[in-house]
Amino acid sequence: MLRHEQSPSITDYQQCDTYAWFSQRAWVEVDLAALSHNVQQLRRFLSARTQLMVVVKADAYGHGVVIVAQTVLKSGASWLGVATVPEGIQLREAGIKAPILILGATYTLEQIHALAHWKLQPTLSSPKQALIFSNTLEAINCDSHLPVHIKLDTGMSRLGTDWQQAGEFVQLVQRLPHLKIASIYSHLATADSLDPTVMNEQHTRFESAIAQIKAMGIEPPYLHLANSAATLADKRLHYDMVRVGLAVYGLYPALHLRERIDLKPVLQVKARVTQVKNIAQGTGVSYGHQFVAEQELRLAVVGIGYADGVPRNLSQKMQAIIRGVRVPQIGTITMDQLMLDVSALPSLQEGEVVTLLGQQGDENIYAEDWATQLNTISWEILCGFKHRLPRVAVI
Ligand SMILES: *Cc1c(COP(=O)(O)O)cnc(C)c1O
Repeated sequence: MLRHEQSPSITDYQQCDTYAWFSQRAWVEVDLAALSHNVQQLRRFLSARTQLMVVVKADAYGHGVVIVAQTVLKSGASWLGVATVPEGIQLREAGIKAPILILGATYTLEQIHALAHWKLQPTLSSPKQALIFSNTLEAINCDSHLPVHIKLDTGMSRLGTDWQQAGEFVQLVQRLPHLKIASIYSHLATADSLDPTVMNEQHTRFESAIAQIKAMGIEPPYLHLANSAATLADKRLHYDMVRVGLAVYGLYPALHLRERIDLKPVLQVKARVTQVKNIAQGTGVSYGHQFVAEQELRLAVVGIGYADGVPRNLSQKMQAIIRGVRVPQIGTITMDQLMLDVSALPSLQEGEVVTLLGQQGDENIYAEDWATQLNTISWEILCGFKHRLPRVAVI
């Protein structure tokens, strides 16, 4: 940490080799040891026959996809899941060889061409899509079989063929040229809920779809159903693979799942104090003067704002940690900067590090804390950090 004991002059800055603090006003720290720990914890929780797919869509939930993919594959994951074809290509271009499932929908000639070329494995959600794939692969003279993953809708009402038509759908895909069924899967809508009723109903529907498929004389295929919440909630949902996102990043999908395994948050958001000043009683702070000092106070300006992913709706509802001390944020959060009341830290200096999300000393601020304030979920908080923040890997 850089501290200036006295206010330095411009020439001091230029001579100082840690002058670089001005160029790193804010960043996201990604703790690779915590990431590895989480994968190992999950691996230990799963039986040997169950593979671990780490879901790395949306730039690995904001953590930086390439470094995350490399780390999780070294730590015991064997599959990667992404939402789109460009996300898959990004991993292949980085030299990643592991099997990659595209969880989202793909239909076009360009997408199918890219899937075959980059060895990415698509999700097939309807007979119509399966026919488009088969015809397109025929037209581009594809001489091998593209592995495809059959998606059943068992109650999420998102992508997938209705579970009651599972048998017919699987039979159709099996008969089509150029396609090879790699797995059959479905997605749960309420696995993070305390009440397991809907999850159990989806489980029963999935089982009955599999029974239909077997009854048609089709070899029991590779099966997967569980996201993070279901993986932690019920081992009967693990099947041959689990698709885990949030838990790998060290967050729990719900409070009641906390005791299942020990996870460590991977991401921290940090920024620097760019100016410290005293303001007199009655002074307004930031746009709209939503905050007016009731007494003289010491104010720190911090170089991070809503354009970096600190939601403006957290204005005056969030805190930050400096030198292990929790301090309140005051005034409206602006695009690139926000202000803190640092009266508790009279010797605070410009250049010091502020933790907005993460741990410092005994204090912790979790993505869940922001999510609760904003009436949203931690997934959205993690995905919200913009690329203007460099991702810095720490080991
Ligand atoms: C995003 C996603 C997951 C991962 O969900 P988490 O709750 O983050 O574990 C799993 N499966 C599918 C189909 C998804 O879209």
